[in-house]
Amino acid sequence: MHLLLLGKNGQVGWELQRALSPLGRITALDRHSADYCGDLTKPDELAQTVRALKPDVIVNAAAYTAVDKAETERELATLVNADAVNVLAREAEATGAWLVHYSTDYVFDGTGNRPWQEPDPTGPLNQYGASKLAGEQAIARYCSRHLIFRTSWVYAARGNNFAKTMLRLAQERSKLSVIDDQFGAPTGAELIADVTAHALRQAMAKPALSGLYHLAAAGEINWHDYAAFVFNEVRKAGIELALQQLDPIPTSAWPTPAIRPANSRLDCTRLEAAFGLHLPRWQLGVARMLDEILEQYR
Ligand code: NDP
Repeated sequence: MHLLLLGKNGQVGWELQRALSPLGRITALDRHSADYCGDLTKPDELAQTVRALKPDVIVNAAAYTAVDKAETERELATLVNADAVNVLAREAEATGAWLVHYSTDYVFDGTGNRPWQEPDPTGPLNQYGASKLAGEQAIARYCSRHLIFRTSWVYAARGNNFAKTMLRLAQERSKLSVIDDQFGAPTGAELIADVTAHALRQAMAKPALSGLYHLAAAGEINWHDYAAFVFNEVRKAGIELALQQLDPIPTSAWPTPAIRPANSRLDCTRLEAAFGLHLPRWQLGVARMLDEILEQYR
């Protein structure tokens, strides 16, 4: 089997290089790859890549993920997250390939406190969410064999994410204020990649499994309590922080260009049932990631 992986150096892409490797031969590209175009701002050249390689599976881990910047770079976000994905969907269909893609809790409007299920109505609050939703819709429309995983609050030892930013700030500052009224589940890139490999194998044997799935770690937390968990783990590991005080604040006290949903909870029952998988609690993965990166803070 031949897999084409796009976005190989992102948080999820990096872990996919590992998790997909037992499934077959991987051609892994990023936007700077020389032999084949892996740049999602160049849909025509991307189509040429698919036609030349004729992969059995395209895994798209590349995305425009700068949520706030997307408010002013709407066209670029749409080009990468929707137009390029549209091309991938059509090319996958034309070559009979599977397309694996990632989407986000930001396709929802964040109302209520019930975990979102896949058929729930979408209503993105920001440009990033809108561009990701358009990408999902293109796949559903043009590619009959696909797996779309909506995930949330992604972190990894490699890459930039909330936990690592908090850790850096807590070493520099004595006081921090963090939002306590947005809820979701921090989800590790390792988990996403491993679930992708398990699900892909099964789906290829049973194409009826094609579809949209929510994929997040179990449990829920808000950003303030997530930060508190990180600091607690770090202190347990014997690392000193400058931080003396961590205050909860409402979203209204921290205005950002992009509006974020208050309720980012994802109900992952469909994924667990369809593929016989178990999603671990979010604390396990975050503690593991911290364990991995803390050496550099000692
Ligand atoms: P990252 O931002 O870590 O990785 C995205 C990758 O896409 C980067 O390697 C980036 O490359 C690449 N990329 C950006 N623009 C282009 C382009 N024009 N052509 C080729 N590659 C490009 O994201 P994650 O790994 O965290 O996200 C993986 C998926 O999960 C995405 O679909 C994202 O929308 C989704 N998701 C992420 C969440 C999160 O909290 N991060 C939450 C929910 C969903 P470069 O470094 O060169 O810019």
